[in-house]
Amino acid sequence: MVSRRRFLAAGAAFGAARSFGQSLPDLLPASGGRRVAIVGGGWGGLTAARHLRRLAPELEVVLIDRDAVFRSLPLSNKWLVDRTPDALVQQDIASAARTSGYRAIQAEVTAIDRERRRLHTAQGALGYDWLILAAGIRHDYSPWLGDDVRAIEAVRRLYPAGFLAGELETLKRKLAEFKGGDLLMTIPPPPFRCPPAPYERAVMIAWMLKTRRIKGRLILVDAGGGMQRFNRMFAERYKDQILHLTHAPVKSIDPFRKTLSTEFDELRFDHAIIIPPQQAADLIWQAGLIGTDAAGKPGGWAGFDPLHLHAIGDERVFLVGDLLGRVSPLFGHYPKSAHMACQLGRIAAAEIAARSRGKLPEQQLPESVCHVFTDVEPMEMMRIDAHYRLRGDGLITQAVRQHEDPQPRGEDVEWARGLYKEMLGL
Ligand SMILES: Cc1cc2nc3c(=O)[nH]c(=O)nc-3n(C[C@H](O)[C@H](O)[C@H](O)COP(=O)(O)OP(=O)(O)OC[C@H]3O[C@@H](n4cnc5c(N)ncnc54)[C@H](O)[C@@H]3O)c2cc1C
Repeated sequence: MVSRRRFLAAGAAFGAARSFGQSLPDLLPASGGRRVAIVGGGWGGLTAARHLRRLAPELEVVLIDRDAVFRSLPLSNKWLVDRTPDALVQQDIASAARTSGYRAIQAEVTAIDRERRRLHTAQGALGYDWLILAAGIRHDYSPWLGDDVRAIEAVRRLYPAGFLAGELETLKRKLAEFKGGDLLMTIPPPPFRCPPAPYERAVMIAWMLKTRRIKGRLILVDAGGGMQRFNRMFAERYKDQILHLTHAPVKSIDPFRKTLSTEFDELRFDHAIIIPPQQAADLIWQAGLIGTDAAGKPGGWAGFDPLHLHAIGDERVFLVGDLLGRVSPLFGHYPKSAHMACQLGRIAAAEIAARSRGKLPEQQLPESVCHVFTDVEPMEMMRIDAHYRLRGDGLITQAVRQHEDPQPRGEDVEWARGLYKEMLGL
């Protein structure tokens, strides 16, 4: 159950803008046409914007992100340890918008007045006819640090997770500065974005320790049992670099004493990458769009109609990407992947285009492809495909397949290029 304290803490981030009574100036002059506002210039939001321009050129499309630049988390693990000559993929959102013919505004959306269909930002308000929310995730440190604001701030600053694009540069710098000792990395309970990503990162860090001859080890404190393919790799090829503690949920962390407690151990560390539990972005909480978990209690993710992606009880608001909650009692969440976010962005665009013309949208389900490195020298890769089907009883089913690829030839880069083209038009 979401405690009152945690709910208020989430809302506090939005400050004064939550009072809908105040009249804010309009961010944009009225266009006379119908408008789709999109919050989030990540994988889901950028894809939705581009497809909307193509599918419904008569609609005005306005994308809002607090950042001016899109940064890619996919392919970042290699980049963190300098295993690729390529720079981190970054793209100025304004030029993507110009190329595709929609409008982009850099602003933080602080509140959504769903009754009046208006978004609030510090600079002004923006009315909408349809809204797509693709705002991603937030970290939830409270299960491990309670409401100790000083400790949370210290963990964010000193031990960034590298699971939000804005954390990547600091994490890379901290890894470059690591000269030895115990480097601890937590793997939170699911769901979290890109489930193989922490394991791929572990392999990259182990390779870094080995090749740079750093006298140190990576301690993985894993709430779950790991992934079979990686568990074997850690035990066989990286036993001197990785200590993998499975089924070891974190109880507490003291960032000042540099200690972490699980049910069984108290661990000391020299440096850490604290990947905390995740939830839907702040805005979903503020907008009252949090859904229920498997037990029917308020969970940490957006509630939505799995077949059409609109919010429960509000067909003017569509939800896309990692912020989504349970899709089906048969398997839970869609994988929180970039590929999936793009597919969902495309489906939400088609839904709005059809509805804006008074038509019934065509039923579409997404799919997901994920390339993940299981070793570095020689490079070995695994591809994980997920497919979805609507069963006769109306429930969505999932089929997942893993393919081993012992001789990859840049398939991950090709995959990413295809998606960049679709979402950025570049
Ligand atoms: C290390 C790592 C590796 C990964 N590798 C892969 C991979 O190989 N393949 C794959 O498919 N996926 C991968 N992923 C997962 C992928 O990055 C996510 O699934 C994807 O980013 C989700 O897209 P999204 O659009 O839902 O959210 P995001 O990309 O996070 O975009 C959300 C956007 O919303 C903006 N925003 C949020 N709140 C507000 C607000 N109030 N006002 C204005 N703007 C706001 C944010 O600034 C952000 O730009 C990886 C993830 C990690 C952490």
